[in-house]
Amino acid sequence: MKPNFSNIFKWGLAQTMISTGMVKNAIQRSMNGEHILAVYFHDPSKKEFESAVKWLLKHDFQFISPEDLLMIAQNKQPFPKGAIMITVDDGWKNNEENIVKVANKHKIPVCIFIATEAVETGNYWWPKVMHANQIHQKGIPDVQQLKKVPNAKRLELINKITTTGTREREAMDIEQIKRISKSPYVHLGAHTHTHPILPNCSYEQSLKELKSSKEKLEKWIGKPVISFAYPNGDFTQREINILNQLNYQLAFTCEPTGIKRQNLLSPLKIPRFAFLEGATMDENICRMMGIWQPLRDKFRYTVFHQKTEYSEYKFQKQS
Ligand SMILES: [Zn+2]
Repeated sequence: MKPNFSNIFKWGLAQTMISTGMVKNAIQRSMNGEHILAVYFHDPSKKEFESAVKWLLKHDFQFISPEDLLMIAQNKQPFPKGAIMITVDDGWKNNEENIVKVANKHKIPVCIFIATEAVETGNYWWPKVMHANQIHQKGIPDVQQLKKVPNAKRLELINKITTTGTREREAMDIEQIKRISKSPYVHLGAHTHTHPILPNCSYEQSLKELKSSKEKLEKWIGKPVISFAYPNGDFTQREINILNQLNYQLAFTCEPTGIKRQNLLSPLKIPRFAFLEGATMDENICRMMGIWQPLRDKFRYTVFHQKTEYSEYKFQKQS
């Protein structure tokens, strides 16, 4: 990691959180059963992922699966103490080596959410856009701008990108999906087909995204798919209604709070904390314990008057 101001600041913040007992208190709150933690990864290195798992095991966390969470939500299992759920978004190629092998070794459940188009084509849309911007292809907005335009416009702009040569596969292929689904520790969920920003889609597009990804995944693995993660954490009430209609039972957002009993009354809006690949282990400990993002957001608001908005809320204001 480069020693720039931002990294030194983050390093200092993590040290402060650890030395002042904030991490210890956060562990205690989990152990007292105040909430269940859910964390999402994307494409961590094996070292990053295994260090996180070992740290959680050392602190006596109990790893739960989506099925466990559902049983808890339905009051068929008691609300647990010190529970954590590991989720992984997108379905990156390296997940088999870096996540699944570690999960099998330590016998811990993980839930991986798959964007099915990338499994079929090999690549995700945003690395393609980043690459086009790096080589200065004209008329291509950056990834953040593309997350704000109507879905049809996003697709039109992405299709304009002329690919130079074949890019290395980024997502798992169908054989990998089939193989990892055989592990008793791996649970697979849907993450749409093309990984759009759902509130930017028309009703028909949104329905198609949620339906086709479930159907493809179920066909590949031969098991029902009951869980879902919103790409970018973005959704509206419309997506909740569609998920209900399609018999999804759990859906995960990116709202950084613990899962309290009342959150389980809305199982299609389960909050999660972000693990940041490339950050220090200390920062990620603070992230997994749920104290990093709330404090960072408070800091941003106090110093820059910037409000960090998550999931559905930023879209509800527009509609
Ligand atoms: Zn994603």
